[in-house]
Amino acid sequence: MSELTDAQGKVHQIELAIDFLESHRKLAEANRKLLDEHGVTMIDVMGSVGAGKTSVVEQLVRGLKEKYRIVVLNGDLVTTIDQDRILRHGVEAIQVNTGKECHLDAALVRTVLERLDLGNLDLVIVENVGNLICPADFPLGSHRRVVVTSVTEGPYVAVKHPHVFAEMDFVVINKIDLASVMEVDVSKLVGDLRSVNPRARVVQTSCKDGTGIPELITRLVEEPRRCTSSESLPA
Ligand code: MG
Ligand code: ZN
Repeated sequence: MSELTDAQGKVHQIELAIDFLESHRKLAEANRKLLDEHGVTMIDVMGSVGAGKTSVVEQLVRGLKEKYRIVVLNGDLVTTIDQDRILRHGVEAIQVNTGKECHLDAALVRTVLERLDLGNLDLVIVENVGNLICPADFPLGSHRRVVVTSVTEGPYVAVKHPHVFAEMDFVVINKIDLASVMEVDVSKLVGDLRSVNPRARVVQTSCKDGTGIPELITRLVEEPRRCTSSESLPA
């Protein structure tokens, strides 16, 4: 809830933002329903610029493409660099350029879903725009919300960005091979994450040497679906 104080000192509650977010949440629920009707699982991968989102998505694609029919949606402001990286793995990838928008939203994802042959798909992996703040407020209708962070973001990432971490089903701590070089105490970082979000699954990975990737794949895709985040459909 936002407040606005006028020149006379009177405080006005601002409902508009909540209605706006609520309408996005409804669109997200409609997306989830559409996906469920076709038995398609969608994973939303968020995280800062440079955390390794594309690298994690590449590892997922590599590990899953023999077993599942996959399409990747690459959200980015203007380039197709990430899409090109995914296409090299022989998997369909769709670039979603947002121009100046710093996140994907459910309406934009809907227009993409409607162009896909959902009956011939198992998995939609969305790489959100690189941003550790607002994507958390814009659920897309995914079954799994994942944030990729990396030890190169320093030791305070969880305490400085509690909101995004609190919303996630999975937290990937990437570039774990660089932890000692970066002088990041990973157990302290995990403790911080746990205090912000005790139920998220935390997986430590290195896309460089493959550490943690099999665990991530098993937990993310092969465990039964959970809907524990705030994106869950109402009962
Ligand atoms: Mg990327
Ligand atoms: Zn944004």
